Amino acid sequence: MITIDNVTKRYFSLIAVDRVSFTVPRGQVLGVLGPNGAGKTTLFKLIAGFLNPDSGEIRPTHGYWPGIGYKPERLLFPNQMRVDEYLAMIARLSNISSNAIEQTVGDALAQVKLLDSSSKHIGQCSKGMRQRLALAQSLIGAPSVLLIDEPSNGLDPEGQADVQRMIQRIGAGGQTVLMSSHQLGEVTQTCSHLIILKQGRIHYRGSMAEALALRPHVTIQVDQELQPAEAMLTSLHPDIHIDGRQITLSNEAIRLRRYVLSLLVGMGFDIVGVAQKRTTLEEIYAEAVQWHNGS
Ligand code: ATP
Repeated sequence: MITIDNVTKRYFSLIAVDRVSFTVPRGQVLGVLGPNGAGKTTLFKLIAGFLNPDSGEIRPTHGYWPGIGYKPERLLFPNQMRVDEYLAMIARLSNISSNAIEQTVGDALAQVKLLDSSSKHIGQCSKGMRQRLALAQSLIGAPSVLLIDEPSNGLDPEGQADVQRMIQRIGAGGQTVLMSSHQLGEVTQTCSHLIILKQGRIHYRGSMAEALALRPHVTIQVDQELQPAEAMLTSLHPDIHIDGRQITLSNEAIRLRRYVLSLLVGMGFDIVGVAQKRTTLEEIYAEAVQWHNGS
């Protein structure tokens, strides 16, 4: 749907986005992760057309520009306007015909669960309500692509769950979504794909299913420090690691779990727990970000 081709954006001497390339196909819900200052907002502003790249190109994959809805991270509203008046103004600016404006505004307010506050002045809205209003604004005109910068900033847990469900519905309905978030659980729940940025560069790119299927591992908890047995256990396989009272077997070493369990019992350890786990997004994120620090 949109192709980002070797895009670089500088602010004076600072390179905020550095030779970034990826394609977002129709219907994908892409999580854009990265630490503060990684370049997520700059990337969204480039895709929305608010900034021009210094080099590289952002183009529609199929020849015509899709409608784009943008929910910014920093929210600036005319506080003296009412919620419904403001959305009606956005609808008019989006060329919605006058007889469809009321319906369009009502639908957007319903999607973000803000109908009850439609007649409030924006200045009287809470932080969470303003977030919902910003999301409603991005939905006006049913754009094919939604850029959502920090969807649940300031929302309570119920609001966060509402937003996650809303984004899942939007993706299931065929709209394309790019969302940035610092909430890794939210990204795991919501996104089909992810990229991890650091200092403007992509450090990880893949589908969520692939990411979470990576590196299964088994952890065994015992009742005493494993240090006396560490040398013997780690000599069995390079993918066996000891940490305090826990032993982790990764990749091929998983096949040795029965043998390791029998050794541990033979050595007098009590087995407190055994768990088979998959990599979490937290681990993938930490690795992508650390890889940069170490490089
Ligand atoms: P956060 O998670 O904190 O919102 P981000 O990943 O969205 O961060 P950006 O806001 O895109 O990051 O910023 C990327 C880099 O560009 C940062 O070093 C930031 O200080 C810098 N930057 C952003 N906007 C400007 C600007 N208008 N002028 C100069 N530098 C800027």
